[in-house]
Amino acid sequence: MNQMREIEKKIESGIRLNDADALFLFESPDLLRIGALADRVNREKNQDRIFYNINRHINPTNICALSCKFCAFSRKPGEEGAYAYEIDEMVEKARTAVNQGATELHMVGGLHPRWPFKRYLDMISTMHQEFPAVHLKAFTAVELDWMARRERRTLGEILQDLKNAGLGSLPGGGAEIFHPEIRDVICDTKVSAEQWIDTHRLAHSMGLRSNCTMLYGHIERYEHRVDHMRRLRELQDETGGFNVFIPLAFQPYQNDMGIGRYTFGFDDLKTIAVARLYLDNFTNIKSYWVMLGQDIAQLGLSFGANDFDGTVTEEKISRMAGGRAGMVMSRSDLEHLILRAGRTPVERDTLYRPIDLEKSLARAAEMRASAGDASPLMLPVARARKLSFATTSNTVQLNVDDPANIDWKHLLTTCEQMAAMPCPDGPRQIILAGLTATSRLMESASIPIENGFADLAKAGVRRLIETAADDATDPSLHLIHKAAHRADMPTSGRVELRAFTNQAHAGEPAASRIDWNAFQKQLNRVSQAMRPLGMTAISLEASRDGVISAGEYLDAIQRLRSAAGEQAEIVTSILSHVPTLAPAMGLGNDGSQHPVQKLVPLLADFGADDLGLIDPAMIKVNRLVEDIRSAGIAAAGGWPSDHSDANPSLDLRHKPDDRN
Ligand code: SF4
Repeated sequence: MNQMREIEKKIESGIRLNDADALFLFESPDLLRIGALADRVNREKNQDRIFYNINRHINPTNICALSCKFCAFSRKPGEEGAYAYEIDEMVEKARTAVNQGATELHMVGGLHPRWPFKRYLDMISTMHQEFPAVHLKAFTAVELDWMARRERRTLGEILQDLKNAGLGSLPGGGAEIFHPEIRDVICDTKVSAEQWIDTHRLAHSMGLRSNCTMLYGHIERYEHRVDHMRRLRELQDETGGFNVFIPLAFQPYQNDMGIGRYTFGFDDLKTIAVARLYLDNFTNIKSYWVMLGQDIAQLGLSFGANDFDGTVTEEKISRMAGGRAGMVMSRSDLEHLILRAGRTPVERDTLYRPIDLEKSLARAAEMRASAGDASPLMLPVARARKLSFATTSNTVQLNVDDPANIDWKHLLTTCEQMAAMPCPDGPRQIILAGLTATSRLMESASIPIENGFADLAKAGVRRLIETAADDATDPSLHLIHKAAHRADMPTSGRVELRAFTNQAHAGEPAASRIDWNAFQKQLNRVSQAMRPLGMTAISLEASRDGVISAGEYLDAIQRLRSAAGEQAEIVTSILSHVPTLAPAMGLGNDGSQHPVQKLVPLLADFGADDLGLIDPAMIKVNRLVEDIRSAGIAAAGGWPSDHSDANPSLDLRHKPDDRN
C-alpha cells in the first residue's frame, strides 16, 4: 500500500498520524487529495459551519525592545513611525467597535521599554470596567515574559493579576517556529520554544484558554513545521486548553531576512489541510484572511479550516509587513464570503462557542433564500499538471474588433510585418481575435472564406480566437470555425463567467453572485459543439462587472474541464481578468508575489493548461516560471524568456489614404 493510501486508512480508522505522515503530506504534490481528506475530517467535526466573530484588534504600541528579523511592525523609541496609544485612545477605539457589536478585543503589541506592568494592568482593568461583557484576549507569551522580567515577578503572579483585572484568554502570537535551527535565526532574543509552551501550559492550568500559531513560509523547512505542530499537539493532549490553531503566512515586506515573496496559495492551503489532519485534538483550524487575503482564506474553508477570524478593523502587524488584505471586513462581508464558499456562517465568541446558533442558522437561511445558494467547492481528482503561457514579447494579438475600420489587404500586410519583426524567442506568433469580424472582412473583399484562412496562415497567423463580439449562439459562427479548420487554422472558443449583484439581506449592501445557469448554458454549447467544430482550446474569461472569487473561478475551470474533456486546452486569463484578484496596479511587477500569483499553481490543479497572453511589463515572467516549476508543474513547451521589449504598437485601423 502506498503511503498516501496508508494515511487515508489511518484517518478512516481514527488512527493518529505520526510525524513521518505529516512530512509526507507536506512533501506530496497531491494537494487536492490531501485537501479532500482534510475537508472530510473537518465536516465530521464541524459539519458545514464556519465560525467568524465580531472583533477589534488594537495594537497598543509598536515600540519594541526586541528586533525579530521577520518583524516589520516594531520601531525603536523616537524612530519614524513609532507610536504608543494612551489608554483613553484605546478605550475610544474599543467603544466604536463595541457599539458595532464587537464581542472581543484582541490586544497585542511591542515590548515597550518604558511601560511598567501597571500600564498593562490598567489597560486591562479599564477596558474590563468600560466593557464588562466584552472578552479581552491580550498579550502573547513574549509580552507576558517581558512584563514578568521587568517586574521581577513570576509569570504566574503576572497572569493572575491580569486575570483578576479582566483578562479573558491569550492570543497565540510569538510561537513563530519552535525549532532552534530556525528560532535562533529569526528571533533569537525572544522567549524560547520551551518558555512559550510553559507559559501556555501555565495559563491553561489557571483556567485561561489560549490560541496557538505557526509562522510559515520563510526559511523553515517542512520538518520544522511538523516539529512545531507536534509540540502544540502534545500540549493540547496534556491540557486541552487551545481554542484554535492559526497558520500565519509570512508577509514579505520590510524584513531583515532577505525574503521578498509571499507564500504560494498551494502551500497556504496545504498547511491548513495538514494541520487539520495532523492536529487531531484541535476542533478549530483558522483560515486567517488578514494574512492569506480573502480569496485564499475563502479557499481554505474547502481545505479543512472551520474558522475565518473576524472583522478585525485595525491590524497593523501584518499590514506593515506587506499584508494586502485590508484591515476590516463587515459582518456581512464575512458572511457572504462564507456563504459563497457553500458553507454556513456561525458567529462565535472568543472561546469558540456559537453566540446564538439558531439566530446564525436562521440568518444564513434567509441570506441563501434571497441571494441564491452556492455549492461548496468540490476538489477535483488530481490530473497531470502543466501550464504554458505566451508573452507579448513573442506573441502579438490583433483584435479585429471593428471591421468597418480595417480592410483585408491591410490586415494581411500588418500580420506579415508583425511576423517578420525580429523576436528574441523564435518566430513571432500572431493571434487574431474575432472570428465573425474576420470573416466579414473576407466577405467584403470577396475572398472565399477558406482561401482567406489559408492567406492568414501564410501571413503568419497561428490561431483565431473568439471574442465577446462573437455570438456563440449564431450558427454562422460554427461555420466559420469549421472553415478555419478545413484550412488547418486552429481556433479557440470562449466562455464567460459572469457575476450579478443582488441584495442578500435587508438593509445590507448588495452582493455579487455567479450566474451559474448562464455559465452552464455556455458549457453545454462547448460540450456539444467543440469537437464537431474542431476547437482546440477554450478560453475562460471573467466578466469585469461583478466580483468573482478565487474559489468560483477555480470551480468554473473545473466545470469547463469536465465539459470540454481532455482534448481541449483550457486557457485562463486570470492574470488580467478576475476583478477581485487582478487589480490593474502592481500585478507582480515589484518582484513580489501578488495574491493572484498565489493562485497560479492551483489553476493547473483544477484543470487549466494555459495562462494566456502575459505582458512582461506587468508580470515578472521569470518569477512566474519559478512559481510554476516550484509547484512541481510541468512546462508544456518552451518557456519564453523574460523580455520586456514593448509590444510593437498595433493599429489595425487603416488611414483613409491607405484605402485601395
Ligand atoms: S515580533 Fe514582537 S517581539 Fe519581535 S520585534 Fe516584532 S513586536 Fe517586537
